[in-house]
Amino acid sequence: MISVRDDLRALQGYHSAQVDVRIRLNTNESPEPPPTAFRDAMAAEVSNIEWNRYPDRAAVALREAIAESHSVDVAQVFVANGSNEVLQTVLLAYAGPGRTVATFEPTYQLHAQIARVTGATVVEGQRADDFTLDPNEVERVITGSQPHVVFLTSPNNPTGLVEPMERVRQILDLAPGLVVVDEAYAQFSDWSALELIDEDTPMVVTRTFSKTWSMAGARLGYLIGPSWLVAELDKVVLPYHLDAVKQIAGRLALRFASDMDDRVRQTVAERTRISSTLADLGTTVFPSGANFVLFRPDGHEGRAVWQGLVDRSVLIRDCSGWPRLANCLRVTVGTPDENSAFLDALGEVLADRSTRLQLSLQTSSETSLETSQNGADQ
Ligand code: PMP
Repeated sequence: MISVRDDLRALQGYHSAQVDVRIRLNTNESPEPPPTAFRDAMAAEVSNIEWNRYPDRAAVALREAIAESHSVDVAQVFVANGSNEVLQTVLLAYAGPGRTVATFEPTYQLHAQIARVTGATVVEGQRADDFTLDPNEVERVITGSQPHVVFLTSPNNPTGLVEPMERVRQILDLAPGLVVVDEAYAQFSDWSALELIDEDTPMVVTRTFSKTWSMAGARLGYLIGPSWLVAELDKVVLPYHLDAVKQIAGRLALRFASDMDDRVRQTVAERTRISSTLADLGTTVFPSGANFVLFRPDGHEGRAVWQGLVDRSVLIRDCSGWPRLANCLRVTVGTPDENSAFLDALGEVLADRSTRLQLSLQTSSETSLETSQNGADQ
């Protein structure tokens, strides 16, 4: 029987637990659907689609709308089915067998995963204990491995930390190849690496419609980068990869930018409320510039706290078994009511002695969490 490629045999798939609960705060989506006016405009345009024809292969109208929203040239915009497909296309073009890709862990697991699927070697730098990125570590990794592609996620997932501009500049100075800044959550933070994009800099910034734009169901993402790089990506991506419906959805969504700005403001305000209440509850809270918050319920077993929340019909992300994230949990910012329900449920769970780590058990429990990490789940 045919067996899978040798290098794929050891890889695990990408998993995300889906449990039937009342409040879902585990996948960093927008808690609200798109505005009603968007749905109406969408319905009108979809009824005019020429279903028997292939869509516009170059997705010009959509790319023009994105280019306008960022004040860049249309030739600097590449679109695909979710930013995951954007990342995959970049890696198909610039990684692959015999090439090296650098990441700084913990970070978005799919960067390393897709790089490995293309056959590239992944070099994992390590963030400090507070998840900031030490310039010495950046230098060690980049000068030591001379990677063809370096990834930086800002704000980072799952930690939420925003990378300072000087770190991006340092990486640009040191990197011999392409720098990819994954900005899936940039609208929730206070700066974007987009301002560093130009035709002479081998850097791209990736974005998604899945979060701010309330369109995770449509699967649409894009990158902004030098036009010569976008031209290379066009050689790699499948013809007609972006269907007609999605091209319309993306173009129309951008008309509702001010509604989305209001939602971003609400999310940021709720994030502040969640973070301060989490601190009041005695957990360690990591500063977030995204639409989620990573926290560690010190003195409790993370997995038991997660289960206690599920028992109260609240689902958040259990990161407690992931490398470097022992006992950590990640909550997506939802509607104010959802966030209050989460915080109330968490207060109950933490007051319940059964999730407490016994001091004598704490060390062995943390060790067992570390050894059970498989790195596959994101
Ligand atoms: N990058 C990061 C950092 C993410 O967290 C996610 C979503 N989990 C993605 C990319 C993928 O987003 P999309 O839905 O656009 O594929």
